[in-house]
Amino acid sequence: GEVRVQRALLSVSDKTGVVEFARGLAELGVELISTGGTAAALREAGLEVRAIDDFTGFPEMMDGRVKTLHPKLYAGVLALRDNAQHMATAAEHDIEFVDLVCVNLYPFEATARRRGATEHEIIENIDIGGPTMIRAAAKNYPFTAVVVNPASYDAVLQELRDAGGKLSLGTRESLAAEAFSTTARYDSAISRWFVEKQDDFAPLMLTAYEKVTDLSYGENPHQRAAYYADAGARMHVLSMVRQLGGKELSFNNVLDLNAARLLMQEFELPACVIIKHNNPCGVAVGGSVVEAYHAAFACDPLSAFGGVIAVNRAVDQQFAEALLKQFCEVIIAPHFTQEALQLLSSKPNMRILEDDERRKANIAERDLKRVMGGLLVQDRDMGLEDRTEMEVVTDRKPTEAEWGEMLFAWKVCKHVRSNAIVLSNDLASVGIGAGQMSRVDSVRLAIEKAGIAGSPLLGAAMASDAFFPFPDGPQLGIDAGVAAIIQPGGSKRDHEVVEAADAAGIAMVFTHRRHFKH
Ligand code: 5GP
Repeated sequence: GEVRVQRALLSVSDKTGVVEFARGLAELGVELISTGGTAAALREAGLEVRAIDDFTGFPEMMDGRVKTLHPKLYAGVLALRDNAQHMATAAEHDIEFVDLVCVNLYPFEATARRRGATEHEIIENIDIGGPTMIRAAAKNYPFTAVVVNPASYDAVLQELRDAGGKLSLGTRESLAAEAFSTTARYDSAISRWFVEKQDDFAPLMLTAYEKVTDLSYGENPHQRAAYYADAGARMHVLSMVRQLGGKELSFNNVLDLNAARLLMQEFELPACVIIKHNNPCGVAVGGSVVEAYHAAFACDPLSAFGGVIAVNRAVDQQFAEALLKQFCEVIIAPHFTQEALQLLSSKPNMRILEDDERRKANIAERDLKRVMGGLLVQDRDMGLEDRTEMEVVTDRKPTEAEWGEMLFAWKVCKHVRSNAIVLSNDLASVGIGAGQMSRVDSVRLAIEKAGIAGSPLLGAAMASDAFFPFPDGPQLGIDAGVAAIIQPGGSKRDHEVVEAADAAGIAMVFTHRRHFKH
């Protein structure tokens, strides 16, 4: 039984397009009922509107907390029109049927996201009547239509015009599906706000996500893919990122971009980070980002091919010229000069991203890892590490320069997949050993890479993301010229490791904190 739409209730916070929609409905002979603000907007446009309190016989009250919540309305929305008993009851209580409900909600997400919004404002932006009405109309989709998205107004009107004031069951069903996903997301955003406020861990799983963009494929071409952000997230990996040139971002680009941005947060000085397959393959700080770029690139020129490059200062002409000599998939910077942009645009494959985000990632955010049928949840490995909490364990104390070098290597090491070893010199990585199943192999790899790139290791610092179980790893470093080692400590054989360091006269620091990353 298809219902001709004869009565519609409109109650919207976002008034975009509502006047045109209502006018279209009125032209089809539909009676319009509306709440305070919406009714005012429609009347101002010259439309005839019946006030909700006239319809329910009950005034809007309590600052709008109660507007539409009335059985007269809900009976009119929820009645099954093919059920004789429902019809008889409706007649007995003078129920008027509502055939279409057009509602969008108080802007809770935008309010909660806004800096400086008071708790009172946020709470008042929890819409009660709107979701209730949306859910009622969506539940009764065989008879009632629900429109929650201004983007649907035109198509709904068109179908009504074409079909003599009726909407097909298929249309009502897809409108209902959109309606329920809207209210689910809305409640998730509210739930998330409470979770963050209470710093609660478990209920985070209720969080919903919203699609930011489809991706042409996943890690491999046969995998479908999309990027979703947390519903109502204050910032996420692509928020405030503007693409100024190049092809569409790929799944792997987004992953590498994430690694680059997280690592970049470690630095205040001009810095350059090059990421390949989710691992840094060159990181440096310098007097300028061009300087940092050259130093980072020199760490592992072979691997840097096709990487994601991030810097934390503007890219100028000189930098752009250097970049043109290399194949890079993505460059992200806080700014590009006009000249730089012009030069880089000659490379259609280079994705150019301007990063307008000046805020740091949310420390309270959880890290989620998908496992079969479930999720592992943990705190993010973020936060400041203080040199005063570290311990010098060798006879020889590190010099100030060695401290600086070790802390730099330590920061980088935290962002390398385990087992992670980072060798650095002059605040630039010179050898990175990543993702090996044994620590000594990571040391070997780091040293070998330094050799391939022709980087001297004499006086270098070495960082290890977890303790050395044996002195073999440190000894390889020492033999290659390493002068200072930073590592968590905590192995049964720490004394053997420290002995090896003392025998070589190098400095060693225990951080007492591990940075596994898998
Ligand atoms: P208006 O601007 O028309 O006065 O208000 C429209 C908004 O009120 C819509 O976002 C709608 O979801 C919301 N709304 C409708 N009925 C109720 C109600 O009974 N209680 C609350 N809190 N909000 C309502």
